[in-house]
Amino acid sequence: MSIIVFGSINIDLVVTAPRLPVAGETLTGEEFFKIPGGKGANQAVALARLGIPTQMVGRVGAHSFGAELVKHLQDTGVQTHNIFIDETVSSGVAIITVDHHGENHIIVIPGANGQVNQEDVGRLSQLLPEATALLLQLEIPLKTVVAAAQAAHNANIKVILDPAPAPSELPEELYELVDIITPNEVEAGQLVGFPVDNEATAAKAAEMLLEKGVKCAIVKLGAKGVVCATSEETFFVPAFPVDAVDTVAAGDAFNSGLAAALYQRLSLHQAVVWGAAAGALAATKRGAQTSLPDKFTFDTFLRERAAKQAEDTND
Ligand code: ADP
Repeated sequence: MSIIVFGSINIDLVVTAPRLPVAGETLTGEEFFKIPGGKGANQAVALARLGIPTQMVGRVGAHSFGAELVKHLQDTGVQTHNIFIDETVSSGVAIITVDHHGENHIIVIPGANGQVNQEDVGRLSQLLPEATALLLQLEIPLKTVVAAAQAAHNANIKVILDPAPAPSELPEELYELVDIITPNEVEAGQLVGFPVDNEATAAKAAEMLLEKGVKCAIVKLGAKGVVCATSEETFFVPAFPVDAVDTVAAGDAFNSGLAAALYQRLSLHQAVVWGAAAGALAATKRGAQTSLPDKFTFDTFLRERAAKQAEDTND
């Protein structure tokens, strides 16, 4: 049995410069980094690092970085047989300029991610009988996300949707197909139409998402914690206190921690704790895939924090 991630695979080309250039200006920059990313690939790598058998379904371009991206996923232990090499487009690319204040310019070329379609859903469908969950995000065409969710729903496979990047709205029929939706504050705000920035507004947003048809809504409030709601209960899990340096991919790590716990048949409450632990660890390191914890780091962190909690309770 495995978990399937159906979604985007990107390469991030990052340059640093003393400041951002103005229109028409050529600047001399400082450093260049080439970092594998894409929310789909990030979630797949995070799952594989946690020791979960993971299949990635998606597309890369034949020439620009495609082979490199697939090899990177393979090297981290992700099963890549169902990544289609698209001859017609480039791989998904993000061109990122960062200045000394951390301000950035980002241009994203969806490339092969923008071509993910019904054929890929066909490949996904063949894997579903051997899967326990499907992880989705929104960096591929929305209608393909809906078709993938429908296929998994029909096969009785748990659908976990990260509605990121923030959509202005989602097709109404998608909610009914989703078992767990996991927006952050901004995404939750976009979906429900009011600002979400604390436990009370997150609980209200989660309730609205349940009314729309999802079975479970988990609202991620960054360093503040997480609100989780089902038809039976609503609970809050505080974030693990850590020295955060960069929260890029914290949301992806969260979803993978959550899915990994459910794969191990742990309770929903424990799954949210695993998500929060993976998210917190990702926040302590720079970068996207570079910051995703391995199993040893993750297990050690959970053990130490549980011991500390027990100590604090006894005091
Ligand atoms: P996203 O990356 O999608 O914007 P968040 O920033 O809410 O999502 O982060 C996802 C999860 O990662 C949070 O719900 C929390 O559990 C964990 N996390 C993020 N930032 C921190 C932080 N500064 N300290 C501890 N945990 C964090």
